[in-house]
Amino acid sequence: MRPRLSAMLVATATSAAGVDGVEPIQLTVPPEASAAERHAADELERILPRMFRRPVTREEDAAAAVRIELRYDPSLGAEEYRLLRECRSPVIRIHGGRPRCVSYGVYGLLGDCLGCRWFIPDVERVPAKKLDDLPAAMNESHRPASEYREVYWREALNADWAARNRLNSNGAPLGERHGGKIIYGEFVHTFDRILPAAKHFDEHPGWFSMVGGRRLKEHTQLCLTHPEVLARTIAAVREWIRRRPDATIFSVSQNDRHNPCQCAACAAVDAAKGSHAGSLIAFVNRVAEAIEPDHPHVSIDTLAYQYIRRPPRRLRPSPNVIVRAPSSAALRIRSTAAPKRATAP
Ligand SMILES: [Zn+2]
Repeated sequence: MRPRLSAMLVATATSAAGVDGVEPIQLTVPPEASAAERHAADELERILPRMFRRPVTREEDAAAAVRIELRYDPSLGAEEYRLLRECRSPVIRIHGGRPRCVSYGVYGLLGDCLGCRWFIPDVERVPAKKLDDLPAAMNESHRPASEYREVYWREALNADWAARNRLNSNGAPLGERHGGKIIYGEFVHTFDRILPAAKHFDEHPGWFSMVGGRRLKEHTQLCLTHPEVLARTIAAVREWIRRRPDATIFSVSQNDRHNPCQCAACAAVDAAKGSHAGSLIAFVNRVAEAIEPDHPHVSIDTLAYQYIRRPPRRLRPSPNVIVRAPSSAALRIRSTAAPKRATAP
C-alpha cells in the first residue's frame, strides 16, 4: 500500500501546486453529486488543462486562480442549467437540473462560451485560452426549445458525442454517467405491433383498412373509427407502459406503407378534416386522453408521414400528443395548443 499512497500524494501535490508555479483551476463537486455530475467534472478535468495550460485540482483548500462549482439545483427542470459569475469573481457556478443538466452546463461553458466543438466522436476542438477569456460576468439560464433532441446519423449514436452536443437522443446509448436520455417505449410504425393483421384479420377483418371496397390483410393499416380498435390500442399502450416504466414516449402510428382505411366512417372524418390526419389525430387524441390520468408523464407519439402529411382542419393534437414529421431535416413538431408539459418558452 505504501508505495501506491506515496505515488498518489506526489501526484496530488503536483496537481495542487500547479506546474511551474501556475495556480490551478479548482473544481468543486458536492459529495452527494450524481454519477452524471461527477462525470461532468471529469470532462472539465480532461479539457481545462489543455485549454488553459493549467492544472486542475479538486483539493478544497488549494490556492486557485479560478474555482468552478458544479451543483444540482432542484429548482431547475430536467433540461435546464444556469451559468453564474459575479463580475470578475474567482468563482464560476454551474447549476443544473437532474438528471443531466449539470453536464449540459459544463458543455455550455466549454462550447458556447469558450469555443469547444465536438464535430464527430474522434474530433474535438479545444482552443487555447487565457483566464481573461472566461466571461467576466454571467447570469444565464438555459432551457432548450425542444425537450427531446436527436439527430440520426451513425456518428451521432455515440453516447459521449451526443451528450457533449446536449442531445438526449433515444438512439444513442446514453447511460447513467451521461444522465440518461429520452426513451421511446415503442418507436414508430406501430399499428401492426398493436394489432397484427396476421393474427387478427381472419377473425376481425373490420379492424383493418378498407380500400376499394374490401378489407386488406396485406399492406394494411388500422380502421381508426372502429371502437374495438380504439379499446385494444389503449390496452396495448397500457401494457407497453407497464413493461417500460422508464420510457416517456410511446408511438401509435401508421405502418410503413400506404392504404389508409376508406370505410364510410373513416372517410367521413377525413373528408370533414381535409386530410387522412383527421381520423388519425382524432384516434390518437382519444388514446392519449385515456392514458393521461394514470400516466401523466407519458406522451403518445404519432407520425405525419406519407398520406398523413397534411394537418387536419380544426383538430389539434392533445397536449400529451407528439406529432413526429419525418423529413431530411428530422423535423419534429409538437402540439402548441395547450403546452401543459412542453418545455419550450
Ligand atoms: Zn375505417
